[in-house]
Amino acid sequence: MHWETIRKDTTPVVPPRLADYDRARSAFTWARARDDLAGLPGGGLNMAHEAVDRHAASARADRVALRCVARDGSVSSVTYAELARRTARFANVLGSLGVGRGDRVFTLLGRCPELYTAVLGTLKNTSVLCPLFSAFGPDPVEQRLRLGDARVLVTTAALYRRKIAGLRASVPGLEHVLIVGDGAGELPGTVSFDDLMSEAPDTFTIPPTAPDDMALLHFTSGTTGTPKGAVHVHEAVVAHYATAAYALDLRPEDVYWCTADPGWVTGMSYGIVAPLAHGATVVVDEGDYDARRWYRVLGEQGVTVWYTAPTALRMLMRATPREGPYDLPRAYDLSALRFVASVGEPLNPEAVVWGQDVLGLPVHDNWWQTETGCIMIANFAGCEIRPGSMGRPLPGVEATVLERGEDGRALVVDGSVREVRDADVEGELALRPGWPSMFRGYLHDEERYDAAFAGGWYLTGDLVRRDTDGWYWFVGRADDVIKSAGHLIGPFEVESALMEHPAVAEAGAIGRPDPVAGNVVKAFVSLRPGVEPTPDLERELLAFGRRRLGPAVAPREIAFDQNLPRTRSGKVMRRLLRARELGLPMGDLSTLEGSG
Ligand code: ATP
Ligand code: MG
Repeated sequence: MHWETIRKDTTPVVPPRLADYDRARSAFTWARARDDLAGLPGGGLNMAHEAVDRHAASARADRVALRCVARDGSVSSVTYAELARRTARFANVLGSLGVGRGDRVFTLLGRCPELYTAVLGTLKNTSVLCPLFSAFGPDPVEQRLRLGDARVLVTTAALYRRKIAGLRASVPGLEHVLIVGDGAGELPGTVSFDDLMSEAPDTFTIPPTAPDDMALLHFTSGTTGTPKGAVHVHEAVVAHYATAAYALDLRPEDVYWCTADPGWVTGMSYGIVAPLAHGATVVVDEGDYDARRWYRVLGEQGVTVWYTAPTALRMLMRATPREGPYDLPRAYDLSALRFVASVGEPLNPEAVVWGQDVLGLPVHDNWWQTETGCIMIANFAGCEIRPGSMGRPLPGVEATVLERGEDGRALVVDGSVREVRDADVEGELALRPGWPSMFRGYLHDEERYDAAFAGGWYLTGDLVRRDTDGWYWFVGRADDVIKSAGHLIGPFEVESALMEHPAVAEAGAIGRPDPVAGNVVKAFVSLRPGVEPTPDLERELLAFGRRRLGPAVAPREIAFDQNLPRTRSGKVMRRLLRARELGLPMGDLSTLEGSG
């Protein structure tokens, strides 16, 4: 593909530089990216065919598709040929239950091999897959099952008992619950996934699939309000494939690990579809969030490309500060690791530098949303990284900055918007629709979908700044931005500055109403282990903030809080900090970590 072409053109194999970035952009078309994929034998395009069957039918059939590390550390492998058989079985299981095209199949599972079977088998069957986060409580599960018109749910006995048993009556459309592992026998109204699988034939012909047939339903993280169900279609695989090559530097020979939970869009697009579409080996770690375990997986599995998130990196940074000691990472051989990327929320510059020092590699930030379905803006492999910046638009992606109004969002006058031409001016990030993984709707909410477009652009709801060389810098979500004495302050800038102080582990900044300034910045700070919250430290941090940020932007108040509220995908929920501070209603709490 074009990515390989670039590599071939730049002999000897030097990393692509700025000029190559421009060349890649001008040479790229989505149609050409699609030519790299196989397509269904009879025409059409099916995600699971690209991810599994086309490799199983090739010389790559015996290559390991999944390398599963169980909780106890034991490792087992699934080849592409075996994955093709398992997913065929599951497609046949769905067929035998009368579940067909467009029907919704939900998963409520941790990251385990059966998840891959269920997801890809559903896609083969042209049914629609909707992943749920396994730590959701009963209410958010019920809300999403109803909103998403669930017919089938694949889960475990333990999760069923805790979250589903009590709500069956209120979700009458949920006809089939399949229990992975033991326990189906004791749970009325469920069937055993394993029994159904063992009875089903292991060959399956994928029915005709149009590129814009619905494939995935993804609920957003709910950082700013009630989660929305974003609809994605089969041709999104073109975008998953191409963007993984550009933004994650992924190649077929890679051993790849994505730490995102399978309940979120990252866990699907880049945890399952993209790496398998490349024919890579995917590490499936069933273990918990734990620094030692993660270094061990990276080392023992020989991970070459690692895709993770700022919250996970901060966990590693707490366990292994940049100042050392480095015994934890040194205990494992990380020499195979070639590329590290991060997504989900702003990556503090501190984390980029930390990666260089501790992992020996910088961390590449990239930006996208549930709605975009694939990475849109990234710091590329081999290109200059600007720490704190989310990078530049991918080939095939047209991004712009729109002039904003008083409320921080793009100014829309009679349906039109104005692009900001100057550098270093901030406004709302907008994208030109037309890439393959663009969401095709919010389920049952056309109005909200329509409201996301103006003047031929998709409005992202995020505020950014573009520098003179075209790098994009995250300023904040339009809803989170703090308006103080005529300035618009991005909370991320404040948080990043505070995190450069050695006492600070994490920070969340909000605006507190002030009669003079409109708002002043208040920062909530969690401290590194062993650091005591004292009035002296508070004064020191206030002074540190003023030195770093200047008096107009620096926090006026600091509060210590060891438990900053965050979403299950790891984002600080500033709307909750604000609601708590101002005594406002808390709103939708379904994605709050630790709830349910
Ligand atoms: P909701 O839309 O329900 O409020 P959410 O926007 O957090 O939730 P996601 O689609 O999971 O749901 O997250 C996308 C958002 O995450 C982006 O719009 C952006 O605000 C933030 N984000 C993602 N990656 C980055 C990044 N690299 N830098 C800064 N912010 C990022
Ligand atoms: Mg969003």
